[in-house]
Amino acid sequence: MSTDHKNAPTNGHNIPAPSNFLRTIIEADLTAGVYANRQDSQGQPLPPMVTRFPPEPNGYLHIGHAKAICVNFGLARDYAGRCNLRFDDTNPEKEEQEYVDTIIDSVKWLGFDWNDSTGEHLYFASNYFDKLYEMAEYLITAGLAYVDSQSAADMAANRGNFGEVGKDSPFRTRSPAESLDLFRRMKAGEFKDGEHVVRAKIDMASPNMTMRDPAIYRIRHAHHHRTGDQWCIYPMYDFTHPISDALENISHSICTLEFQDHRPFYDWILDKLSGGGFFQKPVPHQYEFARLNVTYVVTSKRKLRQLVDEKIVDGWDDPRMPTLVGIRRRGYTPESLQLFCERSGVTKSDGWIDMSSLEGALREDLDPKAPRATAVLRPLKLVIDNFPEGETVACHAPIYPPAHPEHETALRHFPISKTLWIEQEDFMETPVKGYFRLFPPIDDKPGSRVRLRHGYVVECTGFDKDADGNITAVHCSYFDDSKSGTPGSANYKVKGNIHWVSAAHALEAEVRLYDRLFSDPHPDAGGKDFKLALNPNAKECITAYLEPGLSTAKPDDKFQFERHGYFVADRVDSVEGKPVFNRTVTLKDGWAK
Ligand code: ATP
Ligand code: MG
Repeated sequence: MSTDHKNAPTNGHNIPAPSNFLRTIIEADLTAGVYANRQDSQGQPLPPMVTRFPPEPNGYLHIGHAKAICVNFGLARDYAGRCNLRFDDTNPEKEEQEYVDTIIDSVKWLGFDWNDSTGEHLYFASNYFDKLYEMAEYLITAGLAYVDSQSAADMAANRGNFGEVGKDSPFRTRSPAESLDLFRRMKAGEFKDGEHVVRAKIDMASPNMTMRDPAIYRIRHAHHHRTGDQWCIYPMYDFTHPISDALENISHSICTLEFQDHRPFYDWILDKLSGGGFFQKPVPHQYEFARLNVTYVVTSKRKLRQLVDEKIVDGWDDPRMPTLVGIRRRGYTPESLQLFCERSGVTKSDGWIDMSSLEGALREDLDPKAPRATAVLRPLKLVIDNFPEGETVACHAPIYPPAHPEHETALRHFPISKTLWIEQEDFMETPVKGYFRLFPPIDDKPGSRVRLRHGYVVECTGFDKDADGNITAVHCSYFDDSKSGTPGSANYKVKGNIHWVSAAHALEAEVRLYDRLFSDPHPDAGGKDFKLALNPNAKECITAYLEPGLSTAKPDDKFQFERHGYFVADRVDSVEGKPVFNRTVTLKDGWAK
């Protein structure tokens, strides 16, 4: 991908963003000054480009929306423009304030806002209901729209099909005066739902189905979450969208490919209404890009709702969910999502992005900055037989990784004592070839020597087994002149290096080991039952032993648990002094083939 375009925009990571067809178009428009020197309705100068993110407040945002957010807000940031947040709330039945609130929260969390020197640019399509109504009246008066009174079934039948032209409605020739009268009576509440609709008068024979006299207003006796019972007619999405864009002086209206067929109607509406003096030119232009599809993920709202309703997951913010509230709780950072969205590219043809790319972006973001900590997830007791009973020795380790500026100076402290927790996998009764961790003396060979990270070198002397043959403890002796950071440590050359926590001092904590929700990369492809693709191992709750300092972890604090992966203190269930940790992602990709 070429990065040597003019304007060389930078992004949140201070590296030039890769170019794409949208950037090329915007740069050409900026150079030509297409949207230069515009003013808003108050006479304030407008930025040279304006985008918007237009969610419908009918559900939680998901990873696909993150892409649209990063594209729209990211372009505005990179080209000194503005991006509005607009709620497309024209569907009264399905929308709620709860969704407005979570969407605002998620966009902010991703790192974007809609404020500039001229104020806050948060809008609701429902605020335009009066204007939309006025514009519909104009189209009717100008003979460009009419009230159709066919039944829904007739209307559908007369629309025709691909390869079969539609038939004009018998009401298409109604006079503007008659249509206007009916429209006003629709507004006044004289009719039932579905009795009449207003349709744009375009072309029932158009090869593009969306141009066959699309509906622009319908009757819905329904309560709206913002306008209450003020309206019983509501504008259609395809009518509202271009008008909202134009009212907000959007220059580049960016959406996903499924709206490509709607673009002629978008242009038609803006052309007719600017002809009627409603908008200044140039009007907004719509551009489409391919939606983001991520393997091992479903994003259909209906299917996500099913997972919640059937309690397959623990709510919308379950850390396995692809919702932004879930991803956040899982421990993803906004920076990693921005990086991922940018890398997934902006193209004109649909494709799949592998889940490992999302996980890789998180590792890349956190590796240089996440505090390190020790966690024993599958505990096995290690007894240092020659360590004095009841005594402790202070140990310390860097909080940050070597590349971090505070690597040398910021330290974490923890004691070592006679009885420790180590990982079960760090001991083998009968070692396999190349195993350098703990194993006992065999025949006349001594047991292995390993370094207890940031502590002493120990030699394995034996182990205990219970009646069922389970190993219950490992024994060792330590060399008291081998402590890490002391001159004596150099005399010990060992191949194994294992982590541990002091049993008497460890923080016992609930750790939730999350993994991908589905084990099939395309859980719902080709009409498959996505519930058959659920990964039974996507959540495992364990009790783990953590280094004592982790007791002060605050909700959302992120760590690398050495050798295990990235973990976050759960933002919902952690309480002061007793954090619960979620595994965000393992250190290495366990799904790579
Ligand atoms: P879904 O059907 O996936 O729930 P939607 O399109 O119904 O999504 P909206 O609230 O209308 O939900 O979406 C807001 C914006 O987000 C739209 O511009 C839409 O095109 C965009 N968007 C939704 N899903 C994706 C995706 N997977 N990739 C990129 N953009 C997306
Ligand atoms: Mg939509």
